[in-house]
Amino acid sequence: MKKNLIVITGASSGFGVELAKAFAQEVYPLLLLARRIEKMEALNLPNTLCRKVDVTDKQAFEKAVREAESLYGQTDLLINNAGIMLLGDLAIQDTAEWKKMLDVNVLGVMNGMQIVMNDMKARQHGTIINISSMAGVMPFGNHAAYCASKYAVRGVTQTARLELSPHNVRVIVVEPGAVETELLSHTTTPEIIANYESWKQSVGAVNITAADVAKTIKFTYELPQAVLIRELLISDTKQDA
Ligand code: NDP
Repeated sequence: MKKNLIVITGASSGFGVELAKAFAQEVYPLLLLARRIEKMEALNLPNTLCRKVDVTDKQAFEKAVREAESLYGQTDLLINNAGIMLLGDLAIQDTAEWKKMLDVNVLGVMNGMQIVMNDMKARQHGTIINISSMAGVMPFGNHAAYCASKYAVRGVTQTARLELSPHNVRVIVVEPGAVETELLSHTTTPEIIANYESWKQSVGAVNITAADVAKTIKFTYELPQAVLIRELLISDTKQDA
């Protein structure tokens, strides 16, 4: 059976790469988006278009989606996965870091939703999966601005569900706990990075992999359209918060 187009943002590392690989194994046509196009192209996946897109640039984001749709048909699944985590002490963190995180993590997600949701509504079919975080459900130290962005993703997803459920479009929010990826590397305070790493080791939250998260997300998508896992809170079994 012909598979429908899947769009994955942030597909150049971490969860995005594992999602791309998992779906490619079953020959879904893919559009992969991120700024480091060479990393996505190096995956060398079949039936896949890679485009260098910053999700905060809605025009470029939309152009890439329409290009992929002209090749593969309309988008049936958008995974809004691109995100950054700039941890910091709210009292002293550079406010430019707050703006950057809210722009990428929240407005980037909303850009993606608006690009695909109208066609999905018209077709009465489709799925949008937004990657929030366990930090979108509960607070963690030095996560204030990151939490603000991830609570927002959860809020926008829950609200969009009210708007899209009557049109048979599924909207899902995923809230992962700590998983080893490049995510922490962009935080600019070395002490905060070191504390986060030692917390992860101390609770033993080191065994769950990005591939495990990708496999679980793929499962939620492949359920029948009438079945909606609204929220997926997923972590290492040993993570104690
Ligand atoms: P990575 O840093 O490994 O991957 C982040 C991805 O987002 C990269 O592909 C990066 O690509 C992309 N990205 C960042 N900024 C932009 C942008 N402006 N435009 C387009 N793409 C962008 O981290 P993860 O895989 O861990 O993160 C994926 C998502 O999961 C994020 O939303 C993150 O907040 C969330 N998450 C992660 C957890 C974890 O512990 N790993 C826990 C909870 C949530 P490029 O730089 O090439 O543009």
